[in-house]
Amino acid sequence: MPAERHQSSTKPKMGNGETPTPQPEPTWVHEIFQGILTSETRCLNCETVSSKDEDFFDLQVDVDQNTSITHCLKCFSNTETLCSDNKFKCDHCSSYQEAQKRMRVKKLPMILALHLKRFKYMEQYNRHIKVSHRVVFPLELRLFNTSDDAVNPDRLYDLVAVVIHCGSGPNRGHYISIVKSHGFWLLFDDDMVDLQVDQEDMADVVPGSPISSICLQEFYISTGALISGLRVMGECSSLG
Ligand SMILES: [Zn+2]
Repeated sequence: MPAERHQSSTKPKMGNGETPTPQPEPTWVHEIFQGILTSETRCLNCETVSSKDEDFFDLQVDVDQNTSITHCLKCFSNTETLCSDNKFKCDHCSSYQEAQKRMRVKKLPMILALHLKRFKYMEQYNRHIKVSHRVVFPLELRLFNTSDDAVNPDRLYDLVAVVIHCGSGPNRGHYISIVKSHGFWLLFDDDMVDLQVDQEDMADVVPGSPISSICLQEFYISTGALISGLRVMGECSSLG
């Protein structure tokens, strides 16, 4: 899902003949999927911490070998050191300085979409390849990489849908999805809908290949929004 990012710290341009860029009217997509990330940067010279917010519609996490969603989210919020050609322009020092930066979740969305970055550009092959590492994911998820001022940071999410890419590479293949509805897992494959018996059978959806090794995108819904969320997930086309 493409994210319409904007910097919340950006002020509208006024007073010099320019008109402010109109913000798009919020839609049900914003209400359901939109969260806010905050990027915190600490200047290593003056220790000043500055933060900048940006909207997100999904969290895009890197995939490593033998990993888990928890680990992916931890890496997402790892501290990054800005140095050399990538120094940070510190307003307090009025110069470029080395700094440490990390991303944390400030506003948790009603439905959390996690995008596993399985199509990776490999320089030695001069093309994108599919990263098929196994990624373990839980049926219940609580985000731990939230900011100190996050609202409702203990929000608990239930897994309600998984999008899976079947195929060897980014240029070919087929997408299927598994969606939870009324306690049952339904497998959608074009016009075919199969009933999966229960959660334990999730791993057997694709014989010989654990589902966790191939899923591309996961949707977690906040437990407090379970009923309305499931309706939305199942009846997207009927909503304006
Ligand atoms: Zn500074």
